[in-house]
Amino acid sequence: MSEAPPTILLSYGYRASTCGYCSPPGVRSQTETSVTVGAPALQLSCEMYQKMVDRGWRRSGTYNYQPRMIETCCPQYPIRLDAHKFEPTRNQRKALYRFNRFVVSGDSTEDSNTMDTTAAPIVSDAEKKGKNGASSVKSKPRKQVFSLVEAIHASEATSISPSSPPPLHKFEVTIEPASYTEEKFELYKDYQHHVHKEEEKKPSSFDRFLCDTCLVPQNIPYTNTPGPGLPTQYGTHHQLYRIDGELVAMSVLDILPNCVSGVYFMYSSKWEHCQLGKLSVLREAALAREIHAAGLDSMKWVYLGFYIHSCQKMRYKGDYAPSYLLDPESYEWYPLETCKPLLDKHRYVCFSNPSHSCDETKKPALIKRKQSELTDVMYCQVRNRTLVAIPMSQISAEVWKRYSDDLLYTLDALGPHISREVFFKF
Ligand SMILES: [Zn+2]
Repeated sequence: MSEAPPTILLSYGYRASTCGYCSPPGVRSQTETSVTVGAPALQLSCEMYQKMVDRGWRRSGTYNYQPRMIETCCPQYPIRLDAHKFEPTRNQRKALYRFNRFVVSGDSTEDSNTMDTTAAPIVSDAEKKGKNGASSVKSKPRKQVFSLVEAIHASEATSISPSSPPPLHKFEVTIEPASYTEEKFELYKDYQHHVHKEEEKKPSSFDRFLCDTCLVPQNIPYTNTPGPGLPTQYGTHHQLYRIDGELVAMSVLDILPNCVSGVYFMYSSKWEHCQLGKLSVLREAALAREIHAAGLDSMKWVYLGFYIHSCQKMRYKGDYAPSYLLDPESYEWYPLETCKPLLDKHRYVCFSNPSHSCDETKKPALIKRKQSELTDVMYCQVRNRTLVAIPMSQISAEVWKRYSDDLLYTLDALGPHISREVFFKF
């Protein structure tokens, strides 16, 4: 890959706010129990963001934050799905077949006996044949071989053979760099109204939350020619789902070196019966596989954001297997199945060292570091469009005094390696 652009972070440090997860529905908590460290980015390379998400960070627009896990009321564990080993459950496959049937024939009934090939070719020729190439016809009911990538695309207008009867609906999925449009905003308003019961969303909040990004796009170093539906750059994208030309759903996705990271998914209330939210995770896994197949070896995962065990409605993220949670102390990944029994027992769980798990919240003391020690942490200014960096150990005592607490919290959350590779601005 070409050299990554520099990352410039602001260090907001320690932040406490009200929690949207543990308050009863419709009741806004008055106590600030949700604790994070914040570091908005002026610009953030996709490689650096990959390192940050692997240390428990997440972005919302241009604002990056890491929950302080032992201190926050509802610990948020990053969760990732192995896209290559992912095997959809019977229920997930049924939802996909049902959707494909609906597009092709308008039939959206729950009939599990016809969950096979009514919607375009779902089993590939290679898969239909046995190991030695013999066609496995007749005898017993034929065992369906499931191909995720083929099943995902089966009902798309671009996949249906011109010789097949035309489908009842025209289904199209496209991916493009994130940008604001009226049409996307209308979908967002409808989704907020029906799913979150929230009114009066403004275009600016949608733009800030789901269009704006600090990620700097960079070409994906494919070694093969990517197919027409694949992104050509790392960075923030909108994946648009259209039925008969109407925008029915949209995923906000960060395409990073090792993963497709799901930021948000929204769908039109009119198409709720299609279970598009469930299907979007299958589509993201298929996308990661296709990017990998086009020659990006590092592309292996779908990141599904945070898994919050204490919040029932966020547990659906654990329905896709095999998936893994990030350990809040060692930053290694642990299989979700081994994490769940511990999460049932304690509010805060450390998978790498279960004796650190606890039920009460704790506020670890800020590790004070001397300014003179920070010779390899860089403060930067932009002069005449050129980045001028000086070691933090050399900034004025007055500036240090004013910003050091925020900076030390941020350095602690980033860890020593990332701290040395980014530039800070106050
Ligand atoms: Zn909470």
